[in-house]
Amino acid sequence: MIRLILNDTSFEYDIRGLLMAFYPGEEITVKEEPADRIVEADLTESGQRITVSYSDNSRDKTEQYASGVPAERQQQKNQLKRLLYEALSKDTGRQLPWGTLTGIRPTKIPMGLLEQGAREEETARYMQETYLTGPEKTALSIEIAKREMGLLKQLDYENGYSLYVGIPFCPTTCLYCSFTSNPAGAWMPRMEEYLEAVFQEIDYVKEAFRDKKLNTVYIGGGTPTTLTAGQLDRLLGRIEESFSLEHLLEFTVEAGRPDSITAEKLEAVRRHRVSRISINPQTMKQETLKIIGRHHTVEDIVDVFHMARAMGFDNINMDLILGLPGEGTEDVRRTMEELKKLKPDNITVHSLAIKRASRLNLLWEQYEHMDMVNNQEQMKITENAARELGMSPYYLYRQKNMAGNLENVGYALPGKAGIYNILIMEEKQSIVALGAGSITKAVYPGGRIERADNVKDVNQYLQRIDEMIERKRRLFDGERAL
Ligand code: SF4
Repeated sequence: MIRLILNDTSFEYDIRGLLMAFYPGEEITVKEEPADRIVEADLTESGQRITVSYSDNSRDKTEQYASGVPAERQQQKNQLKRLLYEALSKDTGRQLPWGTLTGIRPTKIPMGLLEQGAREEETARYMQETYLTGPEKTALSIEIAKREMGLLKQLDYENGYSLYVGIPFCPTTCLYCSFTSNPAGAWMPRMEEYLEAVFQEIDYVKEAFRDKKLNTVYIGGGTPTTLTAGQLDRLLGRIEESFSLEHLLEFTVEAGRPDSITAEKLEAVRRHRVSRISINPQTMKQETLKIIGRHHTVEDIVDVFHMARAMGFDNINMDLILGLPGEGTEDVRRTMEELKKLKPDNITVHSLAIKRASRLNLLWEQYEHMDMVNNQEQMKITENAARELGMSPYYLYRQKNMAGNLENVGYALPGKAGIYNILIMEEKQSIVALGAGSITKAVYPGGRIERADNVKDVNQYLQRIDEMIERKRRLFDGERAL
């Protein structure tokens, strides 16, 4: 256990993040005490006590990065995190690949600097000096920021928006899942009711955004292919008849789990303007599929992929997770070899994040004896395989409690990158989100962001659908966000 003593809790979130990155899984308790020092961490395990003092005189006056946080506070925070990082690094003998960065959107930093006209070398120097990021992650985030900037040039942020539709049902619950997921079997009799509620939301968007340009559509979940072929057909048809698709750059359906995909469903999707689908194996190791609660085989993944290709889907993403229970470096290598044979158009590599609400966390004693390791070597294996397939990294994000304290990276062939994924990460455009548990994000001129969420509980969502629509109306009406 780590006892953290703070004389001011305003940076508690960041300090915790950094401690968790150095000491994953350690419990942290916080006590606020008036004192000269700003932070004191009692590291019971190593028998160390770390005290970081901070005074106004030590403020780094050269930091210019504007992130919406008042510059002075940003500088204080950066300075404090560097001091703490150096102390923790000394205690553990370790450096972190992302330095002091603990947020989920590290590419926003190089993107902000490059947009302001900074040169690449200046951006790299700023990241290394301010956040102590290692050379690999600095280079990766700049490469991605540049690619994102190129892809986002096609968008008219002021007049455009994106649409998300969440289908929060799955055949079974994966071991690591912390998303809004409900058993598809139990909800089957009420799926029509769910669709009708989504259609009411679509009708609101159709009216409220009639003067705006729809740029991307993403049907996610959960598992959208838990809908029947007929229901998928109606949902996609309803979207197509409700909106002008003249400015549409991308239409994704996250088909997701192979155990929910059938030829009939793929044919239904194919009849519409869908440009990109996702078939997500997570791993190509049979034993692991069983451990994580997937009721399908590796052969099912291969069969479904070939079936989709044969039907003409020419932009297929495959999601992977590194650090799954019992998997090691050789398993990752074998999974990548299998993917290389399939030749998908996108590969999204996630590092396992152990979420509080997941079965993996709740049943921790059953799994803690298994390896759950991700490291730079495994990340490199996936990167090399993606590059061998002709792909480049195009988006990146991080989560709390990630295996190896690394990142999630999306790779794509030229012209096949998922634009919606970039928009979600870089927060440049409003995203109107429909369905239980979805979060609408309004991006106002100047970059201010506000959210309106739909309740997660499906029963509540169905009962309170008018309120969900009203929440969006209030968000977008008061101040025209787009
Ligand atoms: S498919 Fe995704 S949403 Fe569904 S249970 Fe697995 S992790 Fe959760």
